[in-house]
Amino acid sequence: MATSDAPDTTPEFDTSQPTIARVYDALLGGKDNFAADREGAALYLKYVPDAGRCAIENREALVKGVHYLARVAGIDQFLDIGSGLPTQKNTHEAAQEINPNAKVAYVDNDPIVLAHGRALLATNNSTIVVTADLREPQGILDNQEIKDHLDFSRPIALMIVGIHMHFHDDEKPDEWVRTIMDQLVPGSYLFITDFVDTGEPLQKGMERAGLESLGNGWIRTPERIEQHFLGMPLVPPGLDFLARWFPEDPEGDVPAAEDLQPYQRILMAGIAKKV
Ligand code: SAM
Repeated sequence: MATSDAPDTTPEFDTSQPTIARVYDALLGGKDNFAADREGAALYLKYVPDAGRCAIENREALVKGVHYLARVAGIDQFLDIGSGLPTQKNTHEAAQEINPNAKVAYVDNDPIVLAHGRALLATNNSTIVVTADLREPQGILDNQEIKDHLDFSRPIALMIVGIHMHFHDDEKPDEWVRTIMDQLVPGSYLFITDFVDTGEPLQKGMERAGLESLGNGWIRTPERIEQHFLGMPLVPPGLDFLARWFPEDPEGDVPAAEDLQPYQRILMAGIAKKV
């Protein structure tokens, strides 16, 4: 399927309403989106003119985190939930450029991700795409395709990248993540990025854009984001703004937070290890 304003011929996709995956794709400059999604993306750009850069930095952080996990932590199994539509460099490509044998299970609740992922991964036996919902974590753990693909007796990196913001705290998203982490062996990792609230107007603008376009997209204090890691220790440099976050080089020179552009202070990343 390609992008177009032509009549929709894929009845399983409702293209009249924006979806998270397709709005994000539009912000990244992708082609797998429809008019309603581009209107959603336009709302983001109205409140945060650099929202596209935020999305790109989030993808760059995803690659930084996967490289750390594959190269430094020696992880060769990735469970990437809320994986999104395929884009320039995906988790399996980032992992497999470090370890060609790395296995990835992509999970997303938007069926368009499965449709596009299958085409991309038709020739890649180390990667699968499954439609499932983080809100039903036991369903993900019980999914036969995932159980056949990943070895749960060995460490796995659970990736919840760029998705927490779409759940209100009242839904208790950390409990869904805990259900999965509880089933992973020590030596496993949890990799998260999320929208942050340190009191800046542009952060509030991001929340407003999300609420107006998608009905979700909340910002959280750093203290609250730290709770996503369920008390597990964070690897250096801990939780930080994406542009300052280099887990493979935590001692390297990084810009001071106040020297970043305001749009660079909207998302934070962190990786925790289950010990
Ligand atoms: N992880 C990718 C990244 O950071 O580049 C994509 C992030 S995108 C902003 C969020 C993704 O989470 C979308 O593809 C959306 O469909 C997916 N998503 C939202 N709610 C979900 C849920 N309850 N279960 C699984 N995936 C979900």
